[in-house]
Amino acid sequence: MNSMVTQFSYVLATALFIFSLHWMNDPKSARRGVFSGVAAMVIAIIATWAQPAIIIHHEWIVIAIVLGFMVGVPLSRVPLTAVPQRTALSHAFGGLAAGLVGTAEYFLWLSDAQENLTTFRMTAIIAEIVLGYLTFTGSIMAAGKLQGIKWIPQRPVTYPMQNVTNIGLLLLVLTLGIVLVMNPVNAWSSTVFLAIIVLALLFGVLFIIPIGGADMPTVISILNAYAGLSAVAMGFVLDNKLLITAGALDGSSGLILSIIMCKAMNRSFVNVLFGAFGQVQETQETEGEHKVYKSETPEGAAQILEQANLVVIIPGYGMAVSQAQHKVRDLYEQLKKRGITVKFAIHPVAGRMPGHMNVLLAEADIPYTDLVEMDEINPDMPQCDVALVLGANDVVNPAARYSKSSPIYGMPIIDADKAKTVFAVKRSKNPGFAGIENELYFSDKTWMLFGDAKAVLNELVKHLSSDNGM
Ligand code: NDP
Repeated sequence: MNSMVTQFSYVLATALFIFSLHWMNDPKSARRGVFSGVAAMVIAIIATWAQPAIIIHHEWIVIAIVLGFMVGVPLSRVPLTAVPQRTALSHAFGGLAAGLVGTAEYFLWLSDAQENLTTFRMTAIIAEIVLGYLTFTGSIMAAGKLQGIKWIPQRPVTYPMQNVTNIGLLLLVLTLGIVLVMNPVNAWSSTVFLAIIVLALLFGVLFIIPIGGADMPTVISILNAYAGLSAVAMGFVLDNKLLITAGALDGSSGLILSIIMCKAMNRSFVNVLFGAFGQVQETQETEGEHKVYKSETPEGAAQILEQANLVVIIPGYGMAVSQAQHKVRDLYEQLKKRGITVKFAIHPVAGRMPGHMNVLLAEADIPYTDLVEMDEINPDMPQCDVALVLGANDVVNPAARYSKSSPIYGMPIIDADKAKTVFAVKRSKNPGFAGIENELYFSDKTWMLFGDAKAVLNELVKHLSSDNGM
């Protein structure tokens, strides 16, 4: 493939990557966005592979592609509830690939073409391996935490001098990096290079362990940004413009998403970025206090729902686990038939990935116009007759407002507690992701509907439709 065709393919792939991000802004065009991203990646791979400069054995590339498919296809089939950890694994692979390419380039040039190890290239290589390897271990830890892998602690792990240790480690890596940039070819340079790799891998682990539930989504998008920035550095090392632009798009979109999520959760970006800076408090023990839940039957709840003018459904992770979105649609229709206004309150971190609730509700054909963001619905909550909390917990926990010792303190919540009546659907008395008790469930106006979300909704719909027929 001649250079003109390659350059044209790269421009086309870059344009498709940009359109892909743009289309993913809206659920209606999101599918087109995914296809456009896939097309861009295919064009990018073919155009790069076809370059005459690729003077390697092509069978190795075929083997790599087949292996990629063997890992990628099963990964694409994970349930929607496991998408965040799947995404973290993708970042891990991206980071590892960038780190390995940087390592290979450095040692190839060190043994064969030392004149290539210019200050600029060395700076790019150091950035590539530090970001790549820390993204690798950081993402593996994040995926493990979300998946509930036994040997990875789920709760935030904090210890004395954690901030100092993390910052010290980062400064040590940077110092070694600067030393190597200034002396890339030396008797000890390979040892320093390997030391940087080991410290970057360690930093990835230490960066993730103090982070708790509430910050997890933000951290995953920060790791996304790191993987992208590592690809940018790789683009400079390999002198590949497409890697630079694609990496920059990946890095900047990850960074923007992190900032948006920090705002949504009232977290300082620096706190999340350096993990241990944000003092993560231990869960407050409430043992000894005897608190009582009130529970209601679906039949009783259906009778109260029928009397309502405004019902706000607040979906959370439990709706995803139960795959109750289609039953939600049935309930929505039953209530609408009675002239009741029904809105869905969408918290930015409900579920286990950004947009999780939107995706599920769109799958069930709930009109977008009835999905209302947290900031817009909260002023209406005091007028809400019934708030139906459906498998949501942390995102409606009032402790986020007042309890300074709570790990979710400061996170904006959906004001379910301001509704006139609250029905909370969940299976047990277990806490949500952040592992803390929820005062909302003990409130005078709250009635628990214990059971699997789909089963409870099924009962509610059954009672509403039989009442309708009478
Ligand atoms: P939570 O994890 O706080 O609570 C979910 C609730 O659903 C639990 O209390 C659980 O109770 C209940 N539940 C689980 N399965 C079922 C079921 N089959 N039927 C009925 N109920 C069920 O979820 P939220 O959505 O409120 O909050 C999201 C949390 O996840 C936040 O802490 C957020 O920071 C974190 N997070 C978010 C990510 C994102 O990007 N959105 C990514 C990673 C973490 P029980 O077991 O008793 O049924």
